[in-house]
Amino acid sequence: PDRLLLFCRPGFETEAGRELTDAAAEVGAWGYFEPRGATGWLIFNLSGGLSGAELLDRLPLADLVFVRDWLLLVAEIALPPEDRVGAVVGAIRDGGVSVHGCDRVEVRIPENSTDPDLGRFARKWVAPLSKGLRGAGMIADTGDANAPDRLELLLIDFETVLLGVSLAGNRSRWPMGIPRLRLPASAPSRSALKLEEAWKAMLPAERQLDYLGGGKTAVDLGAAPGGWTWQLVRQGMQVTAVDNGPMDQALMASGLVTHVQADGYAWKPRRAVDWMVCDIVDKPRRTAAMVSDWFGGQLCRYSVFNLKLPMKKRYEEWLACRELIQERLADAPFGIRLTARQLYHDREEITCFLERTD
Ligand code: SAM
Repeated sequence: PDRLLLFCRPGFETEAGRELTDAAAEVGAWGYFEPRGATGWLIFNLSGGLSGAELLDRLPLADLVFVRDWLLLVAEIALPPEDRVGAVVGAIRDGGVSVHGCDRVEVRIPENSTDPDLGRFARKWVAPLSKGLRGAGMIADTGDANAPDRLELLLIDFETVLLGVSLAGNRSRWPMGIPRLRLPASAPSRSALKLEEAWKAMLPAERQLDYLGGGKTAVDLGAAPGGWTWQLVRQGMQVTAVDNGPMDQALMASGLVTHVQADGYAWKPRRAVDWMVCDIVDKPRRTAAMVSDWFGGQLCRYSVFNLKLPMKKRYEEWLACRELIQERLADAPFGIRLTARQLYHDREEITCFLERTD
């Protein structure tokens, strides 16, 4: 049976597996998953309905929250101490999954691996591996600039490697869903990276300017010290920052920020704004209800907000929040589009993007 290799935040393997089990069933594929501890990866076995390639053809990664990235699994290989390249070539030959669309190979290690030797080996292995695979005619320069598929190896340890194909049309923008974002020195907090990642991950890449540019207005609930406000200001937005805590002084000096000391759940703007963002750590349903009120009252058009997940029933909590928002806005005179991701910069939370589509 076909298998997929899934990546998620370490500790969220069960959520990722359950989510894909449900989402696959909705498009007619049945499967079950095997988590292997808090490793940040898991295997999903397809047992009926669709092949792995068909499933990836019908289910966009963007529809999932906890699955950060995925591969069509070709083989699980026991690496011999010598001729490891030969072992990979052999496994592809026997694997039955076509790798012909691939023009490059990457070697990764589990996100929470603490073995520096493994990382070093992974980096050094890429060149001889590429050479071997090219020599065997398995990967070739396609010359196709439209991001061809990629052969990826997840090196679990020195004896075990998982080999998969990352499909160009349906994968994370970043391998394993891990973006390398740099925090500029002027950003008031590390949280700034979260909003940057949220925009990169959830706004259509070719339309970023439509969403963010042109001197828009924004409200940032739970804004202090100002990482998110700083991102909004960087886009040229005029921001109302709502928080009882103090805002970064240099950011306030931009002149684009008005600081309001108030309860973010109660405060509402007098006039509608383009964006409302909320990074308050509170009960997720409370945040979901508040966001629904903002949209219901047509107080904003776009929103990025965090849902802090409870210790238990984290997947169910997301489903409950999603349903709450959909129900409350079901009769609104406009459509909505809700996406959510557990971002690399998210901890025990997920980040949602809601927009009005009319
Ligand atoms: N997004 C911010 C940044 O990038 O710097 C960090 C926000 S921090 C995670 C959460 C903030 O929410 C805290 O500054 C806290 O004071 C604020 N907060 C908590 N409850 C609030 C409420 N009911 N109304 C407004 N702000 C609240």
